[in-house]
Amino acid sequence: MSTLFSKIIDREIPANIVYEDDLCLAFRDVNPQAPMHILIIPKKPVAMLVDATVDDQALLGHLLLKAGDIAKQEGYGDAFRLVVNNGAKAGQTVFHLHVHILGGRGFSWPPG
Ligand code: AMP
Repeated sequence: MSTLFSKIIDREIPANIVYEDDLCLAFRDVNPQAPMHILIIPKKPVAMLVDATVDDQALLGHLLLKAGDIAKQEGYGDAFRLVVNNGAKAGQTVFHLHVHILGGRGFSWPPG
């Protein structure tokens, strides 16, 4: 099923893209929850983290490494938070795997 994020990958809807390579795309969240709020997504349409398989191991590692690079490039390499909401009850609203990259404010623990 085509999601909003597939449409962003295909340039059917616009996004503020900050990074792209063969495997992933990163763009600013339209409703930012922090001064830096970027989403990094695989181009492969994995709906949610639990749908990833051992075949996706390198892809998942790639997303994390690039998330760190992007946080650094944005000037928040010293303190940022990554969030993956898996499933509607966990707050997932777009069913195309994405990692939130948040920075630029304090973060409490435990998360809400
Ligand atoms: P989640 O709740 O984890 O599924 O996160 C989905 C995120 O996508 C939310 O933070 C939304 O603000 C964000 N979002 C929804 N539509 C767009 C869009 N067109 N461009 C950028 N971010 C979006």
